[in-house]
Amino acid sequence: MNDTHTHFIPPQAMDWLLDNSMRVNAQFRKQPGKADFLSVNGKWEFELKEAFVNPELYLAEQREAGILHSLVSPIPQLFLYDFAPEITLELSRCYNDGMADWVGNHRDRLSALATLPMNDPESAALELERAMGHGLRGAIVASSWSGKLLSDEAFAPFWETADRLRAIVFVHPLLCEDPRLRQKMLPNLIGVPWETTVCATALLLNGYAERYPGAKILLAHGGGFMPYQIGRLSKGCEQWPAVAASLSESPIDAVKRFWYDSVLWSESSLHHLVRTAGIDRVTQGTDYPFDLCEWPPAKLVRNGFDSLMKV
Ligand SMILES: [Zn+2]
Repeated sequence: MNDTHTHFIPPQAMDWLLDNSMRVNAQFRKQPGKADFLSVNGKWEFELKEAFVNPELYLAEQREAGILHSLVSPIPQLFLYDFAPEITLELSRCYNDGMADWVGNHRDRLSALATLPMNDPESAALELERAMGHGLRGAIVASSWSGKLLSDEAFAPFWETADRLRAIVFVHPLLCEDPRLRQKMLPNLIGVPWETTVCATALLLNGYAERYPGAKILLAHGGGFMPYQIGRLSKGCEQWPAVAASLSESPIDAVKRFWYDSVLWSESSLHHLVRTAGIDRVTQGTDYPFDLCEWPPAKLVRNGFDSLMKV
């Protein structure tokens, strides 16, 4: 088994957060019988379980679950895209160096992705190159934030570098801020896959996977709702040719150019994804150690993992 969707905070990044808690408004809230709950800048509070920050515990739990290799990502709560780019870059460099140190000592068990200052695309491209020079395999980036989408032309420097370096680009949602969802954990339950859906559809219809074929785009949570609506996207492209102007192929074929994790908690949904995208495009993932993680990961052949991780 492998895990391509899992998160960790290395000690260097945790120290930075404690040293800079006032600058980024990091709040630690006590709750009886639980670990502290962390929020940054008043957003997306989560339980900072020991496994997020304890390298030995993290590795022991992965081993116990039978996971042979994990592609570990920074946590989305610490992307810090809403801050001044110099703050985002400062934490990104610290976080990435911490990840590189950790996985460098466990090459057989661990690989890692970087976090980038996407609020400054030129700087994000440089940091991606620096981090990959230290052994990271690519980067985790938010699908959308503050009205921006990864398919915006402003991100061309990032995409060009990811393409040239054959980086894994893990598109991971932030919590949805649609005011209609303010109940029953809906910002997470449907808002999170919706955020991925918007980005994945924009990348697909704008032909990003064809335009930057070296960048290996991995979509979180099974690609959100996009694979399920691929028929509608295809019909729309037939009906309105302008929609497909950036595509040389049908969305039915373009959808096979992305990778998808298996975090769906549903065998039938996973079967649909494998039939839609191809068995070599679906990788095991968990979202461990967040509350809503699929643990252990769904059973799946390793074709998707091999094709994603191939250098
Ligand atoms: Zn995640």
